[in-house]
Amino acid sequence: MSFNDLGLSEPLLRAVREQGYDTPTPIQARGIPTILEGGDVMAAAQTGTGKTAGFTLPLLERLMQTRPERGPRRVRALVLTPTRELAAQVQESVDTYGRHVPLKSTPIFGGVSMRPQLQALRRGVDILVATPGRLLDHLNQGTVDLSSVETLVLDEADRMLDMGFLPDIKRVLAALPAKRQTLLFSATFSEQIAGMARGMLRSPTRIEVAQRNTAAESVNQTVHPVSRAGKRGLLSHLVRDGDWRQVLVFTRTKHGADRLAKQLDQDGLAASAIHGNKSQAARTRALGQFKQGRTRILVATDIAARGLDIEHLPHVVNFDLPNVAEDYVHRIGRTGRAGKGGEAVSLVCVDELKLLKGIEKVLGGSIRKHTVAGFEPDPSERPEPLFKKPAGRRRPPEAGQRRRGGGQRRDAGASRRA
Ligand code: AMP
Repeated sequence: MSFNDLGLSEPLLRAVREQGYDTPTPIQARGIPTILEGGDVMAAAQTGTGKTAGFTLPLLERLMQTRPERGPRRVRALVLTPTRELAAQVQESVDTYGRHVPLKSTPIFGGVSMRPQLQALRRGVDILVATPGRLLDHLNQGTVDLSSVETLVLDEADRMLDMGFLPDIKRVLAALPAKRQTLLFSATFSEQIAGMARGMLRSPTRIEVAQRNTAAESVNQTVHPVSRAGKRGLLSHLVRDGDWRQVLVFTRTKHGADRLAKQLDQDGLAASAIHGNKSQAARTRALGQFKQGRTRILVATDIAARGLDIEHLPHVVNFDLPNVAEDYVHRIGRTGRAGKGGEAVSLVCVDELKLLKGIEKVLGGSIRKHTVAGFEPDPSERPEPLFKKPAGRRRPPEAGQRRRGGGQRRDAGASRRA
């Protein structure tokens, strides 16, 4: 199977060639012709499967084919994503694959000034890549018109549900024509997703591609038991001793991420933190520096890391174990993919033994334990609760208060699971 067989026209094939792709991935081989036919599609595909090109290429093709000869540009395609980072990445793909076609697109997400978005909307765009919150702000202010949308893409629909975006999505849907093509992409097909699809899609074609390698198979995982206070020293030791050059470190809280990055920096290990309280510019900068190798350690919270194109990393460290066992699998999925060996280590103190049990249950086996000499756990340490539950709130501290109404919303501000 080659890209030439999928029904895409030359300007798009040229962009694909320039990217150096020669073979479509399974989701592209199956998805592109189906999407070109114009029907609704429900695809189970995770990040890393090539799903973004899988919907962007046929989307561009259809928009080209149905482009009106004259008249102002109108928004004819809308891609909704759960996070700003993902919106920025999808926008990048639209720019890349669409570089030889005369279509315009713009990202619409919070945390950045409204003005450039307003200017772009006024000048006219064909494609919007948006997070639901900021798009609703524009809808409420009457600065965007979605009545000409022909295709809606819901990217990472499961994440959007987890983050509580369903009411916002419904509001956006109310501004779209009922007659449209809807494409839903989700890592999983849960009962919830099926319910969402029933309300939003019409007899969709279902596409499921083989899941990427399960983390447990390809990643070398180790648990280092350690005392609560010994974690930071152990992390510095592991990075130095192993001469780790690119390490993604996960912490449970935004505050914890900041504090750890600062301490590591003071230890002489170039580190920065990325989380929902950082401005978009700061996050983009931190990610760029990490990718270029200027910072050795990127400390992130789960929600901030979600959707980021930082994969195939040699080292992932769970400084804190995640509250949700499935997040462990997502985290370590950042390493050891596509045949490249990867290493995931977890620094586990007495407070987290219960979480560890839950993770091992999800993995279906126990993780290798190795105590590092000089960083032994303190046998007198007693478990303490990881987070207090204030009355009426069931959220872990990573999740901030979610603002109601049309106000600006932070991706990390929405709880994914209570
Ligand atoms: P995605 O699943 O959309 O996040 O894509 C994962 C990565 O695969 C991205 O870095 C793409 O640039 C890359 N990619 C997408 N399609 C192909 C392809 N057909 N061949 C090689 N790489 C690809």
